[in-house]
Amino acid sequence: MNQTQSPIDFRANVQHVPPHLPAAVRRATTKFLGTRQAVVDVVGDARWQTLRQAGHDLRLHTLNHLDHYLALLEEQVTQAGGIVHWARDAAEAQQIVLEIAREHQVSRAVKVKSMASEEIGLNRALLDAGIQTLETDLGEYIVQLADEGPSHIIVPALHLTKEGIADLFHAKLGVDAPPDPTALCEIARTKLREEFLAAEMGISGANFMIAETGTLVIVTNEGNGRMCTTLPPLHVAVVGIDKVVPDWEAVNVLLKLLPRSATGQKMSSYTSFITGPRRATLEGGPKEFHLVLLDNGRTRILQDAVARETLLCIRCGVCLNVCPVYNHVGGHAYGFAYSGPIGAMLTTQLLGTPVAGDLPFASSLCGACAEYCPVKIPIVEILLRLRRRVVAGDRVAPAVAPAPLRAVARLGSFAFSVPWLYEFGTQALKFAQLPFRKNNWLPQLPPPFNRWTMARPLPAFDADFRGWFRQHTPAGRRREQKKRWGLGVAVAGVLALAAVIFSRRKK
Ligand code: SF4
Repeated sequence: MNQTQSPIDFRANVQHVPPHLPAAVRRATTKFLGTRQAVVDVVGDARWQTLRQAGHDLRLHTLNHLDHYLALLEEQVTQAGGIVHWARDAAEAQQIVLEIAREHQVSRAVKVKSMASEEIGLNRALLDAGIQTLETDLGEYIVQLADEGPSHIIVPALHLTKEGIADLFHAKLGVDAPPDPTALCEIARTKLREEFLAAEMGISGANFMIAETGTLVIVTNEGNGRMCTTLPPLHVAVVGIDKVVPDWEAVNVLLKLLPRSATGQKMSSYTSFITGPRRATLEGGPKEFHLVLLDNGRTRILQDAVARETLLCIRCGVCLNVCPVYNHVGGHAYGFAYSGPIGAMLTTQLLGTPVAGDLPFASSLCGACAEYCPVKIPIVEILLRLRRRVVAGDRVAPAVAPAPLRAVARLGSFAFSVPWLYEFGTQALKFAQLPFRKNNWLPQLPPPFNRWTMARPLPAFDADFRGWFRQHTPAGRRREQKKRWGLGVAVAGVLALAAVIFSRRKK
């Protein structure tokens, strides 16, 4: 299997792993699930299921005729005055965007939140080329300031608290901000407004591309999408080829599914439809429009009759919200742009099993994701298929588990099989953790154990399983009682024996 270039590891720069991460993630995802349920209830279950089936069918139909719809899209975008580019992989996509930027002597760019650009590491490429590139979605702006990647595909800064964001603004922007969402939002808005006006290039992705008219559909809640795509004189959109849909009828269905599942809204605050650059009769809007159609492994995914349904995804993020694994470890633990169940499916196929073969195993296979997925992707079947692929030979690269870690795993396995060693080991661990312990957490361990704590905190060792079992179960308590009785009898026996010996000696 052909693999793509080496990926960005989203764990590399994570600075802010709060010890309360699982609780914070659960609080946010529970809130989203609640609002989603309310708007789905309004539709009614029967109609919602019909909509889901319609979404699934039309996405699958498009995938099965992808060549036709992409050709139609190219024709329509060109007719509308846009310029279409085809990028086989991330490097080619970066190169195309850089060349466009150089041609127009761009020194400042603003961006709409786009998972495709995260996937190809576009920000890094632009910044390395000396182009100041600023994220304008509030969550993305925050994680960019923190020099981190998004931890959720819809809510990039889900892992940060308002106090953490206030500290970040103080450190990076030099402003004293109270930990109040409205105040923080106002600070970001003021900063970003200057940037919108100064930028020479606006970069976006798209939620959908309508083949019949060559129209891009961009769904946002902050209005930054419109600013990025209308204020700068140049608009470049980087979009995965899987985002094409046949017509407006299809978008009508998908726009009923996406905001409800993603943010629990009947519709998002801003839904923009962009067809080509500005018309000659208009004063506003970009003079030039470029569409970069990104493959980056998607045509390879199409080759598998089952796993290809991964490409039906509309990036709503609800599978992350219901996933027990995601809720426990957060998004950065997945290591790449996409996290949760969609990350486990998509990243594994985009990067290949030798790089990301551990991800399909990051699932309890409970199936909640598939039940919630608005386009009915058979997520569990796909994960099982990918697991089979890993087991069949595409092993996880040895570099994923460094030698010291493998040695520790072997030692652990031995200790688990010898009861007294296990008891001794757990007691020793309790002491060894003390220098790294903060309350009930181990937020930062030294190398090589920091691979874990780079993206999520580790709970401190308080009681080993045997200790817990002894304290918390009737059987354990009975055994403990028996043990104490036995010990008492033994001590009494020894004392009696000693008394007998002592009395005989005296005689
Ligand atoms: S796999 Fe389904 S639930 Fe998950 S992000 Fe994609 S569309 Fe949403």
